[in-house]
Amino acid sequence: MKHFFSLTREELRKDFNKEPYRADQLLNWVYKHFQTDFEKMSNLPKGLRQELSSMYSFWSLELITTLKAEDAIKFLFKTKDGLKIESVLIFEKDHTTLCVSSQVGCAIGCRFCATAKDGLLRNLQPHEIVEQYMQVSILTGERARNVVFMGMGEPLANYESVRKAAQILVSSWGLDLSKRRISISTSGLIAQIKKMSNDPLMRDLNLAVSINAPNQSLRLNLMPISQTNTLNDLFQALYDYPLSKGRRIMLEYVLISGLNDSPKHALELLPYILKKPGKFKVNLIPYNEEPGSNFKRPPMERILAFQEVLTSHHVMTHIRFSKGKDILGACGQLRSAYNPSLCG
Ligand code: SAH
Ligand code: SF4
Repeated sequence: MKHFFSLTREELRKDFNKEPYRADQLLNWVYKHFQTDFEKMSNLPKGLRQELSSMYSFWSLELITTLKAEDAIKFLFKTKDGLKIESVLIFEKDHTTLCVSSQVGCAIGCRFCATAKDGLLRNLQPHEIVEQYMQVSILTGERARNVVFMGMGEPLANYESVRKAAQILVSSWGLDLSKRRISISTSGLIAQIKKMSNDPLMRDLNLAVSINAPNQSLRLNLMPISQTNTLNDLFQALYDYPLSKGRRIMLEYVLISGLNDSPKHALELLPYILKKPGKFKVNLIPYNEEPGSNFKRPPMERILAFQEVLTSHHVMTHIRFSKGKDILGACGQLRSAYNPSLCG
């Protein structure tokens, strides 16, 4: 059986070589009506409906639990091979955003990140990424307008699967989301960022890059990836990155108390940004504390002082208070906090 959520229209049409329009009808049921019961696909002949149920399967993630806060719902899923991944639906003022996972765990090993703890267990397949959107949509009735690859994993280390999932998310025959509303967040894999810039599909998505420190030595201390993908080389790749008019690269900066959060650090970061001022916007993310970690969230006045340095130099800056702090907001935290003995 094939995983339906991994298939493009082209692949599906091949399965129906004599009647390719059947593929389009099927896609229409699934991605426009969120209908995955073949028996209810009334414009398909009965015989075909039966055949389809032996050709394609939809579901491979089992919902284990949800955690609700006022402004977010977190979903913990179990894969067929028993691994846990999470997705977060975030309620913004006038729309919703879904944060999806791209890998089980992560090999990058950032010191402050809960996802890094077990290393990389495996890449997610395209259908497991698309299914996060489908399940959350069906479970909540919310069709998220934005999708951010900011859950567990390093999306650019799982390039082909993330690309295919993105294709299904943005294609008119698929979920038909706007390319401008899909964001790929990376720890800064330079070769993959270059690959993305040469890829017409990926280039049109938003690029977010986790900078997290204003100099190489501090960044190396927090993010081992900086050993091979240095801060200078990373910024050079970002200066070279082609952007269409009006778009910016988002620089993400997790603020950790006493480590990278002083106005001095902000001043040190500035020249990197001001070299191409119109190219960037900055997202400041106050550190989301987790049990057992020595890292702390800075006090509010310190966060604002950091921001002030950037804004006084006309850098577009936004403070992203993690949604649903009380439901363990940062990536990988639900999974690591979850007691597996509760799962049936
Ligand atoms: N691997 C990708 C995407 C997932 S992490 C990346 O690193 O960009 C998404 C964002 O969450 C990153 O900017 C990361 O720095 C941040 N993050 C990780 N742990 C965090 C925590 N405990 N509190 C706040 N932000 C965190
Ligand atoms: Fe991986 Fe991103 Fe966490 Fe770093 S911050 S360990 S790259 S998920």
